[in-house]
Amino acid sequence: MFDASQIRALFPALQQQVNQRKLVYLDNAATTQKPESVIHAMAEYYRYDNANVHRASHALSARATRQFEASREVIQRLVNAKFPQEIIWTQGTTGAINLVANSYGSLLEAGDEVIISAMEHHANIVPWQLLAERSGIKLQIAPINGHGQIDMSAFSALLNENTRLVSVCHVSNALGTLNPIAEIIALSHQAGAKVLIDGAQGIAHCDVDVQQLDCDFYAFSGHKMYGPTGIGVLYGKQALLDAMPPWQGGGEMIKHVSFNGTSFNRLPFKFEAGTPNISAVIGLAQAAEFLQQTRASREHEAQLVAQLLEGLHAMEQVSIIGPTKGQIGSVSFTVTGEHHSDIATLLDEQGIAVRAGHHCAQPLMAQLGLKGTIRASIAAYNNSADIDNFLIALKHTLALLS
Ligand code: PMP
Repeated sequence: MFDASQIRALFPALQQQVNQRKLVYLDNAATTQKPESVIHAMAEYYRYDNANVHRASHALSARATRQFEASREVIQRLVNAKFPQEIIWTQGTTGAINLVANSYGSLLEAGDEVIISAMEHHANIVPWQLLAERSGIKLQIAPINGHGQIDMSAFSALLNENTRLVSVCHVSNALGTLNPIAEIIALSHQAGAKVLIDGAQGIAHCDVDVQQLDCDFYAFSGHKMYGPTGIGVLYGKQALLDAMPPWQGGGEMIKHVSFNGTSFNRLPFKFEAGTPNISAVIGLAQAAEFLQQTRASREHEAQLVAQLLEGLHAMEQVSIIGPTKGQIGSVSFTVTGEHHSDIATLLDEQGIAVRAGHHCAQPLMAQLGLKGTIRASIAAYNNSADIDNFLIALKHTLALLS
């Protein structure tokens, strides 16, 4: 049985007051809070095991390397990758997508096509635009329907023999839409295209099995799954990663360097130039363990989303933006006649943390004819009292403004 109050007690940041009110943290899609286990593991590394990995032949380095590589296996298990070397450490989802856009992207030629969707985060738009400028590939945009879902027949119509890659989010950070990624992957593969899933918003709320999904790449950030900032993961199929050239050069990624040329290290090191974010990797493994222990929270999270939707639907001035139900993690809305930032500021005065703005999805906002929305996003540690408090504070805010 899932117990949100037990889970909540593990998070020091949730035990505080903000503006003399108990903190209600509903900005989890931006970043989640961190459990004590993550904070402790990172501090212990710096206290006792601090050394560079893979290099020195001394005890601290051996300990650091052991933890660092064991973390890779934890993440391998989290997403059910076939091999640990299919897990590449990056700086975040952004770093992972840029790696693919630069490395896999360098194999593409003018006339090749990459498809993204109209609901993508800037991190899954701009790297492809930069690639298009460099190499002349064509960027195609799969449109969305009025409920903020990918128009699947329009998507299918875009697939053709020139499509080399489809890159879409698992879950939209701006709307909470869960995309039919299994169908997208199958259709793309039939057309001969590879598929990258931006899992930034999927990893904390969905069970991800990359072998079952058969995606070619899956990218995510540590800080949105109870882990530290500055660390993320690119999962890639081994054969594909092996065929891709290195992107960034430096230490760690080489086998041999001379002024006549350089040979490169094997996977995963080929893609991990320089000293990595060792403490964050160690913290991320703890976050993954925590995430696996809270798998039973899926039902609890769905109930919180349903409670949020019901409360918001009951407010006349409020319009839900995106799907009418079934959002994953995030619910986006606007308030007639009010600016989203004013609402967020007034909520903050009542101890409620939400996000207001374009959510790094300006093209999506432009299509919706909006400057921004207010987004309430939940995590496993939220409870129904948080949602009640949020709804009461929002009602109070609307009354104040009327
Ligand atoms: N994609 C999506 C769907 C996201 O929500 C985010 C973070 N808001 C990113 C990509 C970028 O993640 P990061 O900033 O951690 O690299």
